[in-house]
Amino acid sequence: MEVLHEPARLRAVCDQARRAGERVGVVPTMGALHAGHLALIDEARRRGAQRVVVTIFVNPLQFGPNEDYSRYPRTLPDDAAACEARGVDWVFAPDREAMYPAGFASQVRVSGVTEVLEGVFRPGHFDGVTTVVAKLFGLVGDAVAVFGRKDYQQWCVLRRMVRDLDLPIEMHGMPTVREVDGLALSSRNRYLSPEERVRALAIVRGLRAAIASFDAGERDPRVLESMVRAPVEAAFDRIDYVAVADADSLAPIERVEGRAVLAVAAHLGRTRLIDNVVLGEDRP
Ligand code: AMP
Repeated sequence: MEVLHEPARLRAVCDQARRAGERVGVVPTMGALHAGHLALIDEARRRGAQRVVVTIFVNPLQFGPNEDYSRYPRTLPDDAAACEARGVDWVFAPDREAMYPAGFASQVRVSGVTEVLEGVFRPGHFDGVTTVVAKLFGLVGDAVAVFGRKDYQQWCVLRRMVRDLDLPIEMHGMPTVREVDGLALSSRNRYLSPEERVRALAIVRGLRAAIASFDAGERDPRVLESMVRAPVEAAFDRIDYVAVADADSLAPIERVEGRAVLAVAAHLGRTRLIDNVVLGEDRP
């Protein structure tokens, strides 16, 4: 496995692989890798990638001024070792200047699906995500890409971008990987104190209650939302949103008829956690 830092080098190895007839897989991350990220690597292989690149870049553009950019965990040596053990071919770990050299002035923006849920509470966040992922896709070229549906809205936004811009990327989404007790794996979980780690389970308790209610026939979004809101309100310090939305457009719905997602974002001390389920599909 090779750790690459130069964008031009990433392009060169991907071009070379394709010339040799190999399919390239790409897994974009911000590092601090856990089992959820490693599952994406395996999925890239399952989807036909003979060569896999994991990108590791804590992208400043996607953090708001009061968010955790400076304290986001940076664990490149451990990440590279985990990638190597998983059979990754290349880790692409550029520094900030390599991605955004002086004079950088472009932005990729998706409208609509970015304007609800996370978009309300993290203004500019998705512009940062789409800009960096568009750059990564530009460097990697024709490839299969794998993302986690833990970041459900991000997955929707990036699929929209790939379709709209005719990027030569085959997109795949992976179900959320969880701890045995149900907590969604997240690099941000390491911010939690032992006491907060226990309180964090209120999210999955609420999601399970809502799923049970959905399975029993409940189709009113307000009722389903309240089943998550109650435990999360009791255990967390602040809720950003608990919302049932159309699973594709993420628009609010009056009644669950087609596919719908139930998504939540809430703060526990200085840590913000998100989670979601597609009703009738995901069973945390
Ligand atoms: P990040 O953790 O922001 O670096 O995310 C990198 C990729 O890993 C994104 O596609 C995430 O959706 C995905 N991811 C993060 N956590 C999980 C998880 N628990 N299960 C599956 N995918 C995940």
